[in-house]
Amino acid sequence: MRVIAIDGPAGSGKSTVGRQLAARLELTYLDTGAMYRAVTFAAMRRGVDPSDEGPVAVVARDMDLSVDESGVMVDGVDATLEIRGSEVSRAVSQVAANPGVREEMRTRQRVWAAEHGGGVIEGRDIGSVGFPEAALKVYLTADPEVRAARRAKELTDADYDQVAADIAARDAQDSSRADSPLVEPDGAVTVDTTGLGIAAVVELIAGLVEERS
Ligand code: C5P
Repeated sequence: MRVIAIDGPAGSGKSTVGRQLAARLELTYLDTGAMYRAVTFAAMRRGVDPSDEGPVAVVARDMDLSVDESGVMVDGVDATLEIRGSEVSRAVSQVAANPGVREEMRTRQRVWAAEHGGGVIEGRDIGSVGFPEAALKVYLTADPEVRAARRAKELTDADYDQVAADIAARDAQDSSRADSPLVEPDGAVTVDTTGLGIAAVVELIAGLVEERS
């Protein structure tokens, strides 16, 4: 099983780079942020308050979840678009700090990796906790203004200042939580994508993978 782990803060380029890297290396790709977003969506849909730890952990264990290239299905409902909305984005860090949710998502990620023979997996704790044995660990980062501008461009319902404030709040929560916070994993190669285009980042990481295989 060969895992390429990509971690980093919001807007660092993980999803775009991860998808293209996976295609280039002929590996499958897993967006673990979409999994935490899906738990948040499922809790809201069932009327469970995202701050209610026990009930939210039960939702995480019970829910039917599939995340793949075609989208995100939650309990038989297509949640691909809703999980990117501002309501889920504002609540997801609280849900992701819930140890019961994290344990369940890590189990599902390991099952996914075993079934796919590894893959490109991106998130916040992939190289540090989820897959510390990964063949390559990459920590992607970029200046906060550049990250906010990238996110604002992707969203149609938000302006730059709002997006900048939301991702700063999310990064602060993700980095300060007790259970598997966002960190630069031991042994990771840090890539600052501030002045780099997507193709250049994909080339750089593909080169690192080739060097190590
Ligand atoms: O990557 P994305 O911005 O979609 O992630 C949404 C949220 O999911 C993050 O802000 C973080 O709270 C949580 N997350 C996590 N661990 C991961 C991936 C995402 O806690 N491995």
